[in-house]
Amino acid sequence: MAYATINPFTNEELKVFPNSTDAEVDAALDGAQDAFLQWRETSFAERARVMQNAADILRRDSDKYARLLTLEMGKLIGEAHAETELSAAIFEYYARNAEKLLAPEDLPVADKAEGRAKIIHQPLGVLLAVEPWNFPFYQVARIIAPQLSAGNTVLLKHASNVPQCAAIMDTLMVEAGLPDGAFRTLFPTHGQIARIIEDHRVRGVALTGSEGAGAKVASQAGAALKKTTMELGGADAFIVLDDADMEKTVKWAVFGRHWNAGQVCVSAKRMIVVDSVYDDFVKRYRAGVASLVMGDPMDPATTLAPLSSQRAVDDLKKQVEGAVAAGAQAEEIDLAMPNTGAFFRPVILTNIDENNPARREEFFGPVSMLFRAKDEDDAVRIANDSPYGLGGSVFTQDEARGERVAEQIETGMVFVNHPTMVKADLPFGGVLRSGFGRELIGLGIKEFVNHKLIDVV
Ligand code: NAP
Repeated sequence: MAYATINPFTNEELKVFPNSTDAEVDAALDGAQDAFLQWRETSFAERARVMQNAADILRRDSDKYARLLTLEMGKLIGEAHAETELSAAIFEYYARNAEKLLAPEDLPVADKAEGRAKIIHQPLGVLLAVEPWNFPFYQVARIIAPQLSAGNTVLLKHASNVPQCAAIMDTLMVEAGLPDGAFRTLFPTHGQIARIIEDHRVRGVALTGSEGAGAKVASQAGAALKKTTMELGGADAFIVLDDADMEKTVKWAVFGRHWNAGQVCVSAKRMIVVDSVYDDFVKRYRAGVASLVMGDPMDPATTLAPLSSQRAVDDLKKQVEGAVAAGAQAEEIDLAMPNTGAFFRPVILTNIDENNPARREEFFGPVSMLFRAKDEDDAVRIANDSPYGLGGSVFTQDEARGERVAEQIETGMVFVNHPTMVKADLPFGGVLRSGFGRELIGLGIKEFVNHKLIDVV
């Protein structure tokens, strides 16, 4: 496993980074622990200043950050700018709200003669964050902004294909004024990760990634009795009811499945459309996908980016072949495609019957699964027939109906009339094989704190 930048638009290897040595890992652990002992004593105002600085720097140098995202993992430059702004918004959110969110809470004690009780929220210590490449800044901001604001310190293991994005986050936090050691990027092997998890100074692990990585890291952390949060895969349902505004719905369906080249845990991966509007939806959806433009992700005219790597393309092709071998129909949308780069033409899968394993898989790229539902209840049944429970959406012009259906979907997030979205002031996380725990807002900042009871009798 080498950390390297390979431009997905050209498949050219641009830079290779050596793995961290054991001595570097040890020094980072020492530094994070020393920094913790000081950082936990700082005021919320001081931490807020650092978070706000990070937000300001990201906004000031947005072009530099966005171009690096596009260079390393191939996302559209417009989406790279949006990710940079979202990351800034997350730092700013905690600059403004951390103190309120972690304020001590007085408990109502029934018998006043028994004294007063309160809960205070204290940081745990050094945390390990293991993050994926699909949103290289947002995923990191989502964990370090709340956790540094709470007074914890963080070691980062980023995905091996975005080492420059990982490294620039270090530079960002130093420039923002974070004390040395409080946040450190490493380029560790998976073996070194196991050792970091076991280290007695590490008090928690947050992982965002695949089910496989989640299961591995969660079991290592479990053996060491460390708290974890797991943000894993998803196969969001996109339910279209008979009264949906079809023009808007199709626009969101095409976007929901194809933004970030379909490589989003909360992409709209399963379109579940009720019978009466199914044919109309499919006709319009196919036309919408056919209007996408593949090309240089740095070019604002491009609307469908390459995948993150040639390996991702090869794996996705195999997965589509598996679905077809098990009986599904695959329609490739014949978009003009550049000759080089990790490009993948969109595929629409239909006739995915109950026994087809693809029905319960996550396709991490522009592959849409379409399902015809008999009615609303059947749409809910199909939506819930998934090992995943991350996000989902319901399209209807009747908001009350949308909310009613949303309540029946077994996931962590459901949106009515919008594909699952990410914002600085909304919580994020799932259930089932999509993981556990929540990131962002008050729920996220309270994942790695000691909710300590103080009772004065
Ligand atoms: P991945 O292979 O699981 O990688 C994610 C991170 O885990 C990377 O840093 C990876 O490092 C590391 N990792 C993998 N195996 C490990 C091990 N045994 N020990 C320690 N670290 C390990 O995920 P991916 O395929 O790059 O990302 C896509 C997946 O992430 C999809 O399933 C997607 O749905 C999910 N995801 C979930 C969320 C969410 O919030 N729920 C958000 C984004 C993505 P290396 O690169 O060095 O292997």
